Amino acid sequence: MTSPSIALISAVVDAALSTRRDALPIELNSTARALGARDVLYRAQTQGYTRWSDDGPRILLALTRSDGRRRATLAHECGHLLVDPLVQAESFLQMSPANQQSWNRKVTSLLGYDLSDQLTTAARIHGVERVCDLFSHELLLPFRCARGVRDAWTGELNELRELANQYRVSLSMLAIRLNSVQPGYTLLTLKATPQGRWIAVRTISAPRWLRSRVQCTFDDAHNWPFDGERRISVLLETAHGSLRVEASVICAGLTRIVLLRRPDLEANSGEGRMPAFAQLPLDGPMKNFSPHLRPSLGISAGSSIPGDTSKLVSTLSSGGWQAGRRSLERAPGQE
Ligand SMILES: [Zn+2]
Repeated sequence: MTSPSIALISAVVDAALSTRRDALPIELNSTARALGARDVLYRAQTQGYTRWSDDGPRILLALTRSDGRRRATLAHECGHLLVDPLVQAESFLQMSPANQQSWNRKVTSLLGYDLSDQLTTAARIHGVERVCDLFSHELLLPFRCARGVRDAWTGELNELRELANQYRVSLSMLAIRLNSVQPGYTLLTLKATPQGRWIAVRTISAPRWLRSRVQCTFDDAHNWPFDGERRISVLLETAHGSLRVEASVICAGLTRIVLLRRPDLEANSGEGRMPAFAQLPLDGPMKNFSPHLRPSLGISAGSSIPGDTSKLVSTLSSGGWQAGRRSLERAPGQE
């Protein structure tokens, strides 16, 4: 899977939001409305989508318990508010031609011609969904912030979970983001089968051989479930063979989360049972990254990141584009 450059997506988010956006977690309802969403509603059957009609776009989301997943979907749909008019997405064509032209002009004027062109090209090459995913990552945890988090992270799984709560992102998204800064970790989410086997239902930043039909067997020398994080010997089994490694494990309800260190995997796979490790298609370094932009982040639990509260000033906010009637980033009843 190829990706547009982080520098491009970062520049798009910078252009779409007016000020520094290092005050995390970002407030997404006002972001969506400033980008033109008329409403954010929780009545989707699927995870979420943007419905374009002549009185403006509405973002529809499914009610999900996971704050991180809900925010990721809302941030992804914020990306659609910019990308759909540029690529003339099918759903966008539900609007009248006059409104289509008007939205296209507004997005182009917000981003500028050059950036609009680059974003359109990226969406055509890499796909609208991929671009909106990266937009979501950049909105929720800007790359320059992720660098600070990655540098300061001790490598503990528990701390990773605390950081995910702190930034209101899913553990999976945080792992992807930190690996895009500096590869080195693989995260597995496991569920037990009725036969008592542990199957990976999600693999994040895994080497190619570890991406499908992964089963884990744990040493029996501990009692499930346990609090906190433990280092446990794990037998990984895939279609390509088996491998025993030390892993950090935490129990989360009926789920087991396993953090594997890539150097461990690579060192242990030297016996020849596993195929050579393919390089992950990670995002490249941020070409235009300026060291002076890098915030100093306090990342201990409960600390906050200094910085201005993001205020959204955009050309989109004028002329009735901020006509949101409801503010529903959180599910009803949770506000
Ligand atoms: Zn989408």
